[in-house]
Amino acid sequence: MIESKFAVVHYAEIGLKGRNRAFFERVLAENIIRRFQGLDSVRVERLPGRFLVQASVPLSESTWEERLRKVFGIAYFAPAVPVRKSLEAIEEAILKNFPQDPPGPFRISASRADKRFPLTSLELERRLGEVVRSYTGRPVDLKNPAVTVHVEITHPSAIIYFTRKEGPGGLPVGVSGKVGLLLSGGIDSPVAGFLTLKRGCRVVPIHFHSQPFGNWMASEEKAIEIVRVLMEWGMEPYIYIVPIGDIQQEIVLSAPSAFRLIFYRRLMLRVAEKIMEMEGGLALVTGDSLGQVASQTLENIVAISQAVSMPILRPLIGFDKAEIIKLASSIGTYEISIRPGEDCCQFLMPIKVATRPALSEILEAEKELDMERMVRHALESMRKVELKSG
Ligand code: ATP
Ligand code: MG
Repeated sequence: MIESKFAVVHYAEIGLKGRNRAFFERVLAENIIRRFQGLDSVRVERLPGRFLVQASVPLSESTWEERLRKVFGIAYFAPAVPVRKSLEAIEEAILKNFPQDPPGPFRISASRADKRFPLTSLELERRLGEVVRSYTGRPVDLKNPAVTVHVEITHPSAIIYFTRKEGPGGLPVGVSGKVGLLLSGGIDSPVAGFLTLKRGCRVVPIHFHSQPFGNWMASEEKAIEIVRVLMEWGMEPYIYIVPIGDIQQEIVLSAPSAFRLIFYRRLMLRVAEKIMEMEGGLALVTGDSLGQVASQTLENIVAISQAVSMPILRPLIGFDKAEIIKLASSIGTYEISIRPGEDCCQFLMPIKVATRPALSEILEAEKELDMERMVRHALESMRKVELKSG
């Protein structure tokens, strides 16, 4: 099919029962509609176990793909033709839409959700297989077909489609509650945000930079661009920007240099926790992976986490850098992350980071800082930037 007004969408149903299922379906349908905003106003019809998405005009296969492959919760999808549930109508629709390319053998794959239909799926496959074989001259190959013709007898209509595309899997964004993402502009945290979206969370990005020092503008621009990419995957269309340069300067002056980074992180978490309390969020997310850099030893993760009581999710904890880079490239954030634009000005960075600090030492040193005031000050300087898509 070159163009189609319809697409069928299948979602993973495992574990979906009763009210949960209705909720999941409603959120997924809303997310599909939102994904087409600015392009078309699509309608989503809920059929048993699947959706039929209808556009107002025929859309190309690549348009359907570009949109639907970024909607979490979709297992697979395909441009489709709905037809009347009669054998003649089904045959006619298959022959009319059978693709020229690729050449080679085919198979029919039928499923019958509507058991009132007179033929079983096996009978249907045989019948339709015969018709297609004699009409196209192609052989049948059940193991290695070049083209698979899918026929779904559902309600109220039957659906026919050919190429079936993988969706991103996961859960629809919005079924799992809200989290705050500490988004640095580096390679890792965008991927952590992506994986959290994939598990159905609404993700609010929060970026800290060292305004008024260094090239904070470039850091802010990078963070915003990353959010724009992740908005296509369902991230919230705004970002909290928190300038903390003068607080960092104060920390530099009053805390041991080796603890600086730990205090910066503890401050960031506290501010993020406050933001998420206002947002009705339940957890924070970071891009930490264990042992990757000096600040990510287990001792440092312990010392940093202790600053807040809100749980901190770390979806990358077991990932290697190479795995993270691969994922970042496929999402489209890697290219942005590697551009220059440091979130922290060089003179605020410690020469050496403590790697095995005792929590008691950290807490003792923190007494020298007026953290409460610092958090308040950061929240007062914070800006919420709304991002329109496109
Ligand atoms: P990333 O690539 O995400 O920056 P990283 O491996 O460089 O990660 P760090 O820079 O030590 O590691 O940061 C660890 C985590 O702390 C980040 O993944 C991010 O979640 C959070 N973080 C660090 N700096 C910032 C910042 N400026 N704004 C928001 N979050 C930050
Ligand atoms: Mg970083």
